[in-house]
Amino acid sequence: MHDYTALRQVTVEVILDVEDPRLPLLQKLLLAYKIDWLEHRWDEYTDEEYEAAPLIVVQALSENHVVGGPRFYTEYDLSNACPACGAGMRQTGTYMLDGEGSSIVGLGRFRAVSSYSEIIVDQPLAETLARANLAGLSLRSVYAIQPDEVPMELIWRQLWASHTLPPLSPRSTGIDFDSACKTCRRGKLDSTSPVRFAYRAKDLEGAQDVNRMWEHFGYVRWNGDLKTAVLWQPYFVVTPKVWRIFRDAGVTGFQWLPIRVVEE
Ligand SMILES: [Zn+2]
Repeated sequence: MHDYTALRQVTVEVILDVEDPRLPLLQKLLLAYKIDWLEHRWDEYTDEEYEAAPLIVVQALSENHVVGGPRFYTEYDLSNACPACGAGMRQTGTYMLDGEGSSIVGLGRFRAVSSYSEIIVDQPLAETLARANLAGLSLRSVYAIQPDEVPMELIWRQLWASHTLPPLSPRSTGIDFDSACKTCRRGKLDSTSPVRFAYRAKDLEGAQDVNRMWEHFGYVRWNGDLKTAVLWQPYFVVTPKVWRIFRDAGVTGFQWLPIRVVEE
């Protein structure tokens, strides 16, 4: 007989408000009993807070990610792109998804999917968005590259924003500005939850219903060759009007973070 008791693991998930007096007590107990734990902090918002927000950052969660972009023949203009990290590259051709990989099943499971921060919506949602006359938004065709490398047009549409916001206020928190690309200060940014995006009031002049952020967050694989590139595009930043359409359509798989407005 072997006694495996010592190898047994029990995983427990505890969700507490950061103000909860039991939180420091729990941390003290975990330390005292030498128990390993992972801590994740995030903000939760009410519908009233979304309605009152000047703009809301749309962050995709990983569950609805679909592979696509430069490695699948999507064309880009690199003339203003940072040579070190690719930030500032501009998509010029139709967005191409990997029609062969397993991530494409996301198209059947979600109303909207993301692809390196691009947002791609199903046909009914695209029609609702088009009917809403949202400022700064257009909708573009999406293709899937088949195993024989022939592109096939999908009924899904890519969201396209004509307006890019100015850089974030340095008073944003949860963002590691030191992690930014040394060449352009625009790409490769890291963040830690909870992120609180702040914009200077004057930088919101000219904002549309649908905008792109200036900064590019996250991992980059870039040596100047689009065929091997992994480049995350800037987040979408939208008005509550857009948030409401997505909410009413029952869209899941995205995190919505209201921005804060600061004077400088
Ligand atoms: Zn760069």
